[in-house]
Amino acid sequence: MREIQMVDLRSQYERIKTEIDNAIQEVLNSCTFIKGGKVTTFQQNLETYLNVKHVIPVGNGTDALQISLMALGLKPGDEVITPTFTFIASAEVIALLGLTPVLVDVDYDTFNISIDAIEKAITPKTKAIIPVHLFGQNANMEAILDIARKHHLFVIEDACQSIGAEYTFSDGKTARSGCMGNIGCTSFFPSKNLGCYGDGGAIFTNDDSLAETIRATANHGMYVRYHHDFVGVNSRLDSIQAAVLDVKLKYLDKYIQNRQNAAAFYQKAFANNSHIRLPLIAQNTTHVFHQYTLKIEDFDRNRLQAKLKEKGIPSMVYYPIPLHLQKAYKDRRYTIGDFPIAEKLSDTVLSLPMHTELDIEQLTYITESVNQILK
Ligand SMILES: *Cc1c(COP(=O)(O)O)cnc(C)c1O
Repeated sequence: MREIQMVDLRSQYERIKTEIDNAIQEVLNSCTFIKGGKVTTFQQNLETYLNVKHVIPVGNGTDALQISLMALGLKPGDEVITPTFTFIASAEVIALLGLTPVLVDVDYDTFNISIDAIEKAITPKTKAIIPVHLFGQNANMEAILDIARKHHLFVIEDACQSIGAEYTFSDGKTARSGCMGNIGCTSFFPSKNLGCYGDGGAIFTNDDSLAETIRATANHGMYVRYHHDFVGVNSRLDSIQAAVLDVKLKYLDKYIQNRQNAAAFYQKAFANNSHIRLPLIAQNTTHVFHQYTLKIEDFDRNRLQAKLKEKGIPSMVYYPIPLHLQKAYKDRRYTIGDFPIAEKLSDTVLSLPMHTELDIEQLTYITESVNQILK
């Protein structure tokens, strides 16, 4: 059996090595390392894939979130609602810009931001919501967009884990993850569902004027070369990364399918295990399984993890500490017990190996081992 890894980038690369190597060589031959060329081609192909008007490539997913907030012209003290059970980036950029992160709890079953919690957290200072489409399925965007419309709030989707996931509204209209709110953000970090071979990210929007502001924000506050109209940042995707991404974009649907197949294998194998609460696939969204995350009930999650490790099976805890209990965000507003669901999840979640290259032998070994330990 091949070694089991959380993410197997090498096997994936080997399948498309010739295409990738040629694409990188083209960049070397062109010596167009920043802007133009491959970056433009990839940007346009991603716009087509996502059916969105503007893709603005940037340096990474965290930059994408920061630039999005900057482009909305929010002022210090403005409140931005985001879930407490997620990666740090959304709360981090809110705080970095002098805005106030307002953390809210999530749904136990989907891991995504709780709609009730959003409504309760709205104050006159609330200006935006950053839902995170955690682990690869869209948050309840219909409800979030309704709330945003009602309270005149911006919505920035954190689609760093969910690129390609499709959402269906009650009127039957569909949209890709990150293309429903005012702005969407994604990351091309190597282990993401569409990952490059370094750092990368992108911002999506259907709003022409917002797109222009976002482009200028990512480019030193510059609409006209060397005319700086406001304080911006420097954040760009380089051509080598764009070349890699443009090759991999062609395979994204296949990669998603592979992840969904692995997830279906897991779901079936664990269906009757009373210690396991399976990830729920919500009704109006597809799930692209950036992570396959179990909740371990009535059994010590850490003990399970240690025993799996002995058997050569890696696993990860995403995320062990909710944001409201992180040192950087500990303040008078929050204490232990404030967000019971997030806190419970942090104690019970376990993510199993999930990537595009898992084979039946590996999946069988993983599921049999888990079921054997959790008897
Ligand atoms: C990966 C990730 C980010 C940050 O992306 P980087 O490219 O690493 O900056 C932000 N939010 C979520 C939910 C992520 O998973």
